[in-house]
Amino acid sequence: MSKKVLVVGGGAAGMMAAISAAERGATVTLLEPNERLGKKLNITGKGRCNVTNDSGVEELLANVPHNGKFLYSAFSRFDGRDAMAFFEELGVPLKVERGKRVFPVSDRAFDISGALERRLKKLNVSMLRRRAVGLSTENGAVRGAETEQGTLSVDAVILATGGVSYPATGSTGDGHRLAAEAGHTVTPLRGSLVPLQEEGGVCAELQGLSLRNVGLAVFENDRKIEADFGELLFTHFGVSGPLVLSASAHMRHFEKKAYRLEIDLKPALDEGQLDRRLLADFEKYANSDFCNALDDLLPQKLIPVMVERCGIPPHQKVHDVTREQRQGLLRLLKHFSIAIAASCPAEDAIVTSGGVKVSEINPHTMESRILKGLYFAGELIDVDAYTGGFNLQIAWATGRAAGFAAAETKE
Ligand SMILES: Cc1cc2nc3c(=O)[nH]c(=O)nc-3n(C[C@H](O)[C@H](O)[C@H](O)COP(=O)(O)OP(=O)(O)OC[C@H]3O[C@@H](n4cnc5c(N)ncnc54)[C@H](O)[C@@H]3O)c2cc1C
Repeated sequence: MSKKVLVVGGGAAGMMAAISAAERGATVTLLEPNERLGKKLNITGKGRCNVTNDSGVEELLANVPHNGKFLYSAFSRFDGRDAMAFFEELGVPLKVERGKRVFPVSDRAFDISGALERRLKKLNVSMLRRRAVGLSTENGAVRGAETEQGTLSVDAVILATGGVSYPATGSTGDGHRLAAEAGHTVTPLRGSLVPLQEEGGVCAELQGLSLRNVGLAVFENDRKIEADFGELLFTHFGVSGPLVLSASAHMRHFEKKAYRLEIDLKPALDEGQLDRRLLADFEKYANSDFCNALDDLLPQKLIPVMVERCGIPPHQKVHDVTREQRQGLLRLLKHFSIAIAASCPAEDAIVTSGGVKVSEINPHTMESRILKGLYFAGELIDVDAYTGGFNLQIAWATGRAAGFAAAETKE
C-alpha cells in the first residue's frame, strides 16, 4: 500500500518534497495557507528567480558557509546540474549568467513556480489551503498533523515551513515551533544575506547614495576575511545592496567579534594610477578651494564626508595641498571604512541562519533522529548559503531527499 505523506509548506522545498514523494508512489497532501504556492519563490532574484547554480557538489558545498557538510549526501544525489535538468524537463528553458547563476530564460520566477504546480497536479498531489498548528504523535512516531480545520492522519510528515525572513510570504517560524514541540533543538535564528547597521552616523549622511562598481572588504577583528566588487547602497541605518547582502553572510559572530567594512571607491585604479589621477585633478583645480576639487572624482553627496574624513581643510587652496595630505586622501579613497554594529533583524534578511539542529536530522533521508516519520526540508534546517542560487538549491536537494525517503518509510 502506498504511504500517506503530508508536506507542510508549499514553498520551494515543500513543492519539491511533495513532487518527489508522489513520484515514488506516495499519496501526498500539501498544506499551504497562502492562496498561491511559492509566494517567496515568486519574488526571488528580483522576480527573475536565480533557481540554482550550474555547479557540482564540491562547488555547492564551498558556497554553504554554515553546516555545509550536512548537505553532502543530498547534494551528491541532486546537485545544481540535476536541478537544471529537472526544470528543463518540466518545460522551463534555463540560462546561465555571471557566477554560474541559473535563471529561467523568460526571467520570470512565476515560470518556475508554475511548472512545479503543474507537476504537482499531474501527480495528483492534493493541495489544501490550511495551516498546520501541531503534530500528532504516537509511540515515538509522527501520526499526522493538526490543522485549524481538523487532524490529518498520515504515515509521514515533511516540515518545509521555511525560515523567519520576509514573514509576509508565509514563513513565520511555525515549523521551528512544531519541531521544538517534537523535541528538536532550534539553534538561534538570525538574518543572513541581510542589510547591515552602522556604528556612528556616516551612512545616514549618505542615505540614498548608491555606488556601482566599488570594492568591498570585510574585516573581522581587523583581519580581512572577504573581498568582492559590485553595488552598494547607503541607508538611514547603514548599508544595503547586493554587495552588502553577500558580505553579511561572512559576518557571523557579532556577539564576540568586531566587524568593519572597507570600501574601495576606485577599484579600477591601483595606488599609482590613482595618485596620477589626483595630481591631474589637482592641477585642473589648482586655484580652487580643496572642497571644490573633487567634483570629477566622486558623487556630490560623498564629497563633504570625504573632505571631513581626510582632514584637509575645506578652504585650503588646492595648490597648497601637500604630498602627505594627498596620500591621506588616496588612502581614504581606497579604504573608506565603516564600523558595523549589527546585522538587521532576521525578518529583513534574504535567508534565515539557524534552525533545526542538523545533528538531530539524518543527512541521507532528512528524517528526524528524534521522532520517527518526521522529515525536514529547506530553510527550516540550520543551513544557509551565499547568494548565487545556492539557497534554493538547498531547498531542492533537501526537498528531493526528504520526499523520496518519506515515500519509502517502512512501518
Ligand atoms: C527577496 C528574496 C529573494 C531571494 N532570492 C533568491 C534567489 O534568487 N536564489 C536563491 O537561491 N534564493 C533566494 N532567496 C532565498 C530563497 O527564497 C529561500 O531560501 C527559499 O525560498 C526557501 O525555501 P523553503 O521552501 O524552505 O521556504 P519558503 O519558500 O519560505 O516556504 C515556506 C512555506 O511554508 C508555508 N508555511 C509556513 N508555516 C506553515 C504552516 N504552519 N502550515 C503550512 N504551511 C506553512 C509558508 O506559507 C511558505 O509558503 C531569496 C529570498 C528572498 C526573501
